[in-house]
Amino acid sequence: MDPLHDQGTEAALRAVFETAGPYLSSLAERPVYAGSSRVEELAGALPASGEGAAAVAERLLSVGTESATHSAGPRFFHFVTGGVTPAALAADWTVSLLDQNAFSRAASEFATSVETVALDWLRSLFGLPASFGGALVGSATFANFTALGAATHWWGARHGVDVTSAGLAGLPRMPVFSGGYVHASARKALQMLGHGRDSVAVHGAGRVDLSSLDRALASSGPSVVIANAGEVNTGDFDPLADLADVVARHDAWLHVDGAFGLFAAVSPRTSHLVAGLERADSIACDGHKWLNVPYESGFAFLREPARLGAAFGMPGAPYLPGADSPRGGYGLLGPESSRRARSVPIWATLAAYGRSGYQAMVERHLDLAQELAELVDAAPELERLAEVPLCVVCFRVAPPGVPESDLDDLNRRVGEALLEDGRVFAGTTVWDGKVALRPAIVNWRTTSRDIRLFVSVVRELAASSAL
Ligand SMILES: *Cc1c(COP(=O)(O)O)cnc(C)c1O
Repeated sequence: MDPLHDQGTEAALRAVFETAGPYLSSLAERPVYAGSSRVEELAGALPASGEGAAAVAERLLSVGTESATHSAGPRFFHFVTGGVTPAALAADWTVSLLDQNAFSRAASEFATSVETVALDWLRSLFGLPASFGGALVGSATFANFTALGAATHWWGARHGVDVTSAGLAGLPRMPVFSGGYVHASARKALQMLGHGRDSVAVHGAGRVDLSSLDRALASSGPSVVIANAGEVNTGDFDPLADLADVVARHDAWLHVDGAFGLFAAVSPRTSHLVAGLERADSIACDGHKWLNVPYESGFAFLREPARLGAAFGMPGAPYLPGADSPRGGYGLLGPESSRRARSVPIWATLAAYGRSGYQAMVERHLDLAQELAELVDAAPELERLAEVPLCVVCFRVAPPGVPESDLDDLNRRVGEALLEDGRVFAGTTVWDGKVALRPAIVNWRTTSRDIRLFVSVVRELAASSAL
């Protein structure tokens, strides 16, 4: 018999369900990482005949719950990543159950309609005017790509060229400006769009230097400016309103990379950090960071959303709907065509917890970041390197008596020791010329106990790394 028609479906799904509860409740206690030696059990040659769905599910769960990085738990402070909320997790299982193609209304009216609601709720969460619209994409890298793709289309039109059909050949290089906070993924987006990652002219070492930018824009012709709302090492912001004033004096497109920093808008304690956001032409953000939904969940907003169809439509395939067709959909408004219904977990988490749930979570994280900063300040061998406006705390190990010239190596060793140890995770960066740690607090499960454990593990490993 065709093995795909075996009766394993229920047993396989039940195995997932029965494993989920104990796994999820273990996250608060288990180390972030305890090695992944068992992953080898999944290797080997392609099986000539398979084991069936139920046996495979059991084996995968057994290896996965041991060998995965338990980054959904509360002490993964590396990068800036959340952990899926209960409502989003249940919704994500539903996405796989329904197996929709969120390409178009013709493919899934359901997925398209839910995406419209999810985008509208996100727009509202961030306080953006109703005229803003967008599309869900795979990540903030793809959100930057989508927004800068639309900007490229705008810029080509300024030169009388439709770059979607004619490309960039014959045009001058697109002038792109940013400050010192520009993220590597914005450069990667420019690289993928054919502008080159070195096309960014950086004005300012940290926050964008407004007067220098103003002078440059005066002679650059139509240009693109990338603002940074939430810098990854410290959580600092470019001054968006002042930047928008400068951009408004010139013929320029203002893009804001707010991959996690956009969530400053969710609390009155931090919303001043994104004042002026509504003056952006485009905005990039991530769902798998502070929204705490599964990975591959980014979104791009445009002030004039119709520009997405112009930049990403796929005319010329007679079997596909056009960007303006009533059977069209979000697959024609961004880089992907066939796509997962990633709107569903976003819809579910916002439906489950609402505006006040997210405000409370963000504010809890703001408090935890301040608590971490205070613990760092109180430890004689730790040195904080930056203010803490949001959810990232940038600091280094600097024991009294250890010469400056040894500190970078020491901090690199501490960074490696943290990842080896596995009780808590954080990564190193280079900030202001110094190797530093930059834990980010955006996971809904994180508590004060996790923050205190983090500091005590860092201090313990700093002491042993100093030897
Ligand atoms: C994380 C991040 C990105 C890239 O996000 P991915 O989801 O990893 O693609 C872009 N910009 C900023 C500011 C970020 O923090």
